[in-house]
Order: sequence, then structure tokens, then C-alpha cells
Amino acid sequence: MSGKMASCIFCKIIKGEIPCFKLFESDKTLAFLDINPLSKGHALVIPKHHGEKLTDIPDDQLAEVLPTVKKLAAATGANEWNLLQNNGKGAHQEVGHVHFHMIPKPNAEEGLGISWPQQKTDMDALKKLFEDVKGKM
Ligand code: AMP
Repeated sequence: MSGKMASCIFCKIIKGEIPCFKLFESDKTLAFLDINPLSKGHALVIPKHHGEKLTDIPDDQLAEVLPTVKKLAAATGANEWNLLQNNGKGAHQEVGHVHFHMIPKPNAEEGLGISWPQQKTDMDALKKLFEDVKGKM
């Protein structure tokens, strides 16, 4: 086991070394309540496979993630909600084990607040970017 895995708080939750309010578990997936929620019902879905960013997780380890998010949304009774997954410290990731937040948005004050700094469109630059990215897909 790598040092990162040994010290990973979510790996410890998976192994039962630290407690959580477990909502769903299967071979590949675990869901539990977030300990410092942004709103009532805020929960996390994680692949058991340890990896820091989504790009570090094999596709087959992710198969149950979105179905579990759907179950959480239904079970919490959330009518409006956000699905959030942060990759990297600069993108607000604090725990270095991939996790998906299901965050109910009951009103303007609670839940996820979003800043959406839209940029003006430069069509030539957008087309160049499109060709560059599409060529690498
Ligand atoms: P992120 O900023 O995307 O890395 O979010 C990490 C989330 O994990 C935060 O919302 C924390 O409240 C949550 N969290 C950290 N430790 C625990 C824990 N032991 N049990 C449940 N949730 C946790």
C-alpha cells in the first residue's frame, strides 16, 4: 500500500477504521453523510479504488457512482440539488480521494453557492481550441 493510501481519511472510512454515517455500500462504491454539510442531506459518493483525481480512477470502478447519486437524491427528498466533484487543491479539493458531492439546494442561502465568471466569446479562439481538444479525444 502506498503512503498516500495509508493516510487517506476516506480509505480509513472504507476499511471501517474511522466511523461514518453509511448510506450505501457495494464492492466498488460507498456513500455516506458529509460531516460538515452545506445543507441537510449533503452526502458523498466515493469509489473504493483510491485515486486523487477522477482521471486516476479506472472506468469500471465508477459504474455505480451516478446511480448511487440518484438514489441519494431520491432518499433525501431533495427537489433541487447539485452534483459536485472537485479535482485538485486549486479547484477546492481538500480530501485527496475522489468523491462526488450530492448537495441539496433547499433555498438561496443553503447548499452550494456558485460563482460563474463567464468570459466573452472570441469565436476564432474557440474554434482553435475546439480543433485542438477534439484532436486529442
Ligand atoms: P472537497 O473539498 O471536495 O475535498 O470536500 C471534502 C468533503 O469531505 C468536505 O465537504 C468535508 O466536510 C467532507 N469530510 C471530510 N472528512 C469527513 C469525514 N470524516 N466524514 C464525512 N465527511 C468528511
